[in-house]
Amino acid sequence: MSEEEHKKGRNFIEAIVEKDISENNNDGRVHTRFPPEPNGYLHIGHAKSICLNFGLTEKYGGKTNLRFDDTNPTKEEMEYIESIKEDVSWLGFDWEDREYYASDYFEQLYQWAELLIKEGKAYVDDQSVEEIAATRGTPTRPGKISPYRERSIEENLDLFRRMKAGEFENGARVLRAKIDMASPNMHLRDPIMYRILHAYHQRTKNEWCIYPMYDYAHGQSDYIETITHSICTLEFEVHRPLYDWFLDQIATGDYRPKQIEFARLNLSYTVMSKRRLMELVKEGYVDGWDDPRMPTISGLRRRGFTPESIRNFSEKVGVAKRDNVIDVALLEHSVREDLNKKAQRVMGVLDPLKIVIENYPHDVTEELETINNPEDESMGYRKIPFSREIYIDRNDFMEDPPRKFFRLSPGKEVRLKSAYIIKCEDIVKDHQGNITELKCSYDPETKSGASQSNRKVKGTLHWVSAPHAINAEVRLYDRLFNDEDPAGYKDHDFKEFFNEKSLNILKECKLEPSLKDAIPEDRFQFQRIGYFCVDRYSTSEKLIFNRTVTLRDTWAKISQKK
Ligand code: ATP
Ligand code: MG
Repeated sequence: MSEEEHKKGRNFIEAIVEKDISENNNDGRVHTRFPPEPNGYLHIGHAKSICLNFGLTEKYGGKTNLRFDDTNPTKEEMEYIESIKEDVSWLGFDWEDREYYASDYFEQLYQWAELLIKEGKAYVDDQSVEEIAATRGTPTRPGKISPYRERSIEENLDLFRRMKAGEFENGARVLRAKIDMASPNMHLRDPIMYRILHAYHQRTKNEWCIYPMYDYAHGQSDYIETITHSICTLEFEVHRPLYDWFLDQIATGDYRPKQIEFARLNLSYTVMSKRRLMELVKEGYVDGWDDPRMPTISGLRRRGFTPESIRNFSEKVGVAKRDNVIDVALLEHSVREDLNKKAQRVMGVLDPLKIVIENYPHDVTEELETINNPEDESMGYRKIPFSREIYIDRNDFMEDPPRKFFRLSPGKEVRLKSAYIIKCEDIVKDHQGNITELKCSYDPETKSGASQSNRKVKGTLHWVSAPHAINAEVRLYDRLFNDEDPAGYKDHDFKEFFNEKSLNILKECKLEPSLKDAIPEDRFQFQRIGYFCVDRYSTSEKLIFNRTVTLRDTWAKISQKK
C-alpha cells in the first residue's frame, strides 16, 4: 500500500476500483464474482475471498455473482454446492438471483472455440497430454512445435466437431490455442483449451464429452457475466496474459473484465487446501468437513465462531500483494473480541469436585442474582440457585498448594462468584487416597452484591449447585497440527504433524441449570474457562458444548509487545 492509499484507509484493490470508477471504465460499474470449484467445503481462505469480493460491491455499490466453476465433472458433488451456498449466506452475503455455473456456458464456450479455429487461432493436437507437457520447453528454451500445428482450418474444425460428437477416446486429442511456442511466458505456449473426457456431469449429464480447461473457461465466463473486476490469488498472475489473450479474441466493444491478483491467506498451524482437508476427512483424522478443529467455514461455525468474527478477521488481515502467513492467534483473537461483547456469562464445572457447606441449612435453595454480561448491562441479570452442596472444578483446589495459589486449599478462603466466601475445613478421601469431597463453611455476612463493604479475599471461583446442576459433555479443542507449517516439508507428509491431543472429551461436566434449554449455536462464556457453543448435534437428552477458544488472548499479548 502506498502512503497515500494508507491514509485513505483503503487497500490496493480498492484503489484500482476507485480509479476505474472515476475514469468511467466499464461505465463505472463494479461487478465481482466468487468462483468456487465445488470439489470440497470452503475454508477460511475462501472466506477471505468472499469478504473481499462481496465487500467491494457493498462498499462501492454493485453486484457479486456466485459462480460454480464446475468444469471438472469427475470431482464435483452436489453436497459441496449446497455447503458452499450455506457458508456464503451464513457469512452474511447475498448473491440474490445470480447463482451461476460455468457449465451453463459450455455451448457458448464451444462456439467461441470454433470461432478461434476458423480464425486460425486454435488447432487440434493428436499428441497426448504427457507429450505436450514434455515438449513445452523451459522458460529459457522454446517449446517444440507440434507436428499437428499447421493443420488446415477445415481439418481442425472437422476433428473438433468429432471430438465433441464422441468419436474419440479420452486423451486421444486436445484443442490448443495457437499462440507462441517461444513465448517467455509458458502459459502462452499453445495452452490446451479442451480435453476429451467421457464423464457424467452433475448438471449437463451426458451432453458433453469434451470439457474446457480452467484458463479458457474462466475469463470467458467473467465476460459472459459482465464482471468488471476478476479477483484471484497470486498464482494466477502469470496466467493473466492468457486471460487477456482469450478475451481479445472474442470481445467486441469497450467492455473488458480485469484480472487482479492478491496474496492468498495462509494461517499458521493449519493446512488450507481442499485436497489436504479432504484427506483428513477421508482418512478419519477428523469426523467430517465440519469437525470443529477444521479450518473450514462449517468447522469454524460449529466450533462457535460468529460470522462477524470471521469478517472482522478478514478485514484485519487486509489485502496483500505478497504471500505471507497469518498467526492463527489473530483469528482466535477476533472471535474473543466479538464474543466478549455478545456472550452471556454462565458457570460450568468441567471436572467436578463436590463441596458440602456444613453450616448452610439443609433443604434451602437461595436464588442469587448475577449479571449476564458485565460488558453490556442491557443483557440484564438472572438468578442462579445456591444450596448446601455445590461443585467446583477440581483444579481449583490443592491440598498442598504453592505460595501463590489463591484458589481453595485447607484452612483457606475463597469467594464463590456471585455468592459467598467459603473456607475449606476438611478433606474427604477414598481408600486410594483420592479426594472425593471437601467440607467447607460459609460466611453468611459475605453475600455478593448485598453490600460493597464485603470483605475481600484474593480468589474467586466458579461453581454450580449440585442438586440443580445439569449434565453435559464438553469438548475441548487444540490446534490440529503440532507444527506451524505442517505442509511445508518436502520429506514429510503433513499428517505426520497431526496433533493427537487436539480433541479432549469431558463427559461428566456440571452446568448451571439455565443452560438446559440452550440450542445448537447458542454461545456462552463459561466463566474463567472460555467461550463455548452448543454443538450442532446437541439435544436436550444429551447436551454437548464445544469450546470455541480459551479466555487467554495470546494475540493481544503479542501485539502489546510490538
Ligand atoms: P484450494 O487450493 O484450497 O482447493 P482453490 O483456489 O483451488 O483452493 P477454488 O474453489 O478454486 O479453490 O477457489 C475459489 C476462490 O477462492 C478463488 O477465487 C480462489 O482464488 C479463492 N481462494 C482459495 N483459497 C484461498 C486462500 N487461501 N486465500 C484467499 N483466497 C482463496
Ligand atoms: Mg481449485
